[in-house]
Amino acid sequence: MSQGRPPRLTVLRLGHRRERDKRITSHLGLTARAFGANEVVLAGEEDPSPLKTWKSVTDRFGGDFVGKYEGKPMSWLRRASKSDDFTIVHLTMYGQPWRQTIGKIPVNKPVIVVVGGTKVPFEAFQVSDFNVSVGNQPHSEVAALAVFLESWLGPIDEDSIFSGAQMKVIPSDRKKVVIPTEEE
Ligand code: SAM
Repeated sequence: MSQGRPPRLTVLRLGHRRERDKRITSHLGLTARAFGANEVVLAGEEDPSPLKTWKSVTDRFGGDFVGKYEGKPMSWLRRASKSDDFTIVHLTMYGQPWRQTIGKIPVNKPVIVVVGGTKVPFEAFQVSDFNVSVGNQPHSEVAALAVFLESWLGPIDEDSIFSGAQMKVIPSDRKKVVIPTEEE
């Protein structure tokens, strides 16, 4: 686990397909949010649906999290890479093992984590500072992102990250307990 957190953590979701990836892209954004990202940049087919879901969850459960669409993600990523203002981490089954890599990722500037959907352009490998695998077997972008973020940043402080929530879940052994936050 690294020391501290980057000032801003963005997940770039490449190659979204409106029909086929509806649920997984929605889950990817919710996972990014739950594990401490500030933003998801959606690329591929334009689709308001995941953006609406992420906003609705953020409105209810708090936090400073935004989703937005980017029509030219590789130009966007190239610019970020050239500016040297960001660290770019690409999650790919072909990359270097995550446990050996997370300690090398700096947290002194914003980080962009790139995950794919359909075939990822080769340029993503070239513009990234780190190509990181969560095992060298093919699996899911949601699983890769969750394992990577939890391993790299550790547990998040929910109360500070999800401030401004309308409601909060109280952990329970046997039932659903959700309270409006002003009752705390
Ligand atoms: N077919 C695509 C390709 O050839 O690039 C990859 C599809 S995979 C279902 C979708 C995304 O999940 C990948 O782009 C990568 O970001 C992530 N992923 C899948 N397996 C991974 C692994 N073992 N380690 C890291 N990321 C992984």
